[in-house]
Amino acid sequence: MSSKEPSFRESVDLMFNRAVALMDLPPGLEEKIRVCNATYTVRFGVRLRGQIQTFTGYRSVHSEHMEPVKGGIRYAMGVNQDEVEALAALMTYKCALVEAPFGGSKGGLRIDPRQYEEHELELITRRFAYELAKRDLIHPSQNVPAPDMGTGEREMAWIADQYRRMNTTDINANACVTGKPTHAGGIQGRVEATGRGVQYALKEYFRHPEDVAQAGLSGKLDGKRIVVQGLGNVGYHAAKFLREEDGALITGIIERDGALISDKGLDVEAVRSWISNHGGVKGYADAEYVAEGAKILEKECDILIPAAMEGVINLANAHRIAAPLIIEAANGPITAGADEILREKGTVIIPDMYANAGGVTVSYFEWVKNLSHIRFGRMGRRQEEARHQLIVDELARLDEHLGGAWSMTPDFKQKYLRGADELELVRSGLDDTMRVAYQSMAEVWRTRDDVSDLRTAAYLVAIGRVALSYRAKGL
Ligand code: GLU
Repeated sequence: MSSKEPSFRESVDLMFNRAVALMDLPPGLEEKIRVCNATYTVRFGVRLRGQIQTFTGYRSVHSEHMEPVKGGIRYAMGVNQDEVEALAALMTYKCALVEAPFGGSKGGLRIDPRQYEEHELELITRRFAYELAKRDLIHPSQNVPAPDMGTGEREMAWIADQYRRMNTTDINANACVTGKPTHAGGIQGRVEATGRGVQYALKEYFRHPEDVAQAGLSGKLDGKRIVVQGLGNVGYHAAKFLREEDGALITGIIERDGALISDKGLDVEAVRSWISNHGGVKGYADAEYVAEGAKILEKECDILIPAAMEGVINLANAHRIAAPLIIEAANGPITAGADEILREKGTVIIPDMYANAGGVTVSYFEWVKNLSHIRFGRMGRRQEEARHQLIVDELARLDEHLGGAWSMTPDFKQKYLRGADELELVRSGLDDTMRVAYQSMAEVWRTRDDVSDLRTAAYLVAIGRVALSYRAKGL
């Protein structure tokens, strides 16, 4: 990266500043919203392999205009205070944009999880959770973590159990963390949620031909050429659904050890299982392998999905990015400098705070489920089916009356009769959330002459909501 490149934290601040310059906030409130309220650094020792190893972890609370505050915990060697604070700020804006009633937070542990056995990771995670929980940095009504890079259901189950051991009489203990496995208080559809949200975001974008035209594209998602960077949980689900359900062609997959390209489209499922068996994409038969994977970010395609980490599109490669449409599935994949270059080129960027908000949206549903102690759909499903049965019976009676002159479409009856289960309800809630949030952001983009990109529009909507909430508190 060039030395002029702003850090991730500076990038978020620059983008925030660009947006607030267009707003009319009362003096001081802008600064109040921008700064991180608190960042805790915890250092703790765990006895592993015969010696004590010291780990450094963070939990940053960006804004408490709503509580609990929400945001994932990542396990990566690059974790540091600046990164955690930038990610916490993004969580504040993300939650505001999709109307999840949370403030923003983020956590991180400086560790390479691949270097540890499962039982070691459990010891480390439980100890980290203990350090956070005893400071109320894990708490159902104060601070609710979730998975992020390097963590998943397994870690969330350990965290929930650790909290429960420390708070044996808290009836809402399960709501202390989201992204848990379904057998441990989780919700259907949380694992796929961020990738599913990326799919719903693109579907919504393609419902607006005038917005699609801004990227110089037309038509539907069907047949669009997509390059995805990172086949982790987010990239995998987004690519899989876009290919299987919307007919998009995945023409490039970039991973740690290189990239695969194929003009006829890659089989996402096959590539994923190749990676899990061989540790990387190299050697996969049905595609061309490119060792310098990052080069494929510059490959000609219709849609680029960076779904790996921050800063991958920067001053060094921004001018060579060919995709007319980029959807930020990762947090902060485009630096502020690159963002400017791309905007000048006319590239449309669907920003992270909207594009990857599917995760926290379904986390919100999981938290509500935990607090209400009942699965979504449990009360209404059979009643809904019974009412549908009444209509189907009535239609059948009509059919008989008309002597078969009119008849029901063969699978109508079966499809219509089924009441929605939890997964369908979660998807429906997520779809609605992504549509409504897109519309609020796109409305600003279309109607304000001084707003030329979706990111600024998203910041305007989000900051406006946070500001309203502070004002309501009398600030
Ligand atoms: N880590 C995810 C994110 O960056 C999910 C956060 C959550 O579910 O609270 O949005």
